[in-house]
Amino acid sequence: MKCLRCSSVMTYDKFYGPHEYFWGWKCVICGEIVDQVILENRELIRMGRVPNTRSRKR
Ligand SMILES: [Zn+2]
Repeated sequence: MKCLRCSSVMTYDKFYGPHEYFWGWKCVICGEIVDQVILENRELIRMGRVPNTRSRKR
């Protein structure tokens, strides 16, 4: 796994969210975090199926 921002090495690690923990990738250089949900959304976007969750209120 390479960082999408700086192309450095990413490590697979455990993170703690507000309700539960999740596993994801973290860049050792810039600290970018990519988890399974982000990867799945990115995959959907690449296939042209953008999930309708990006509505910004404010
Ligand atoms: Zn990075």
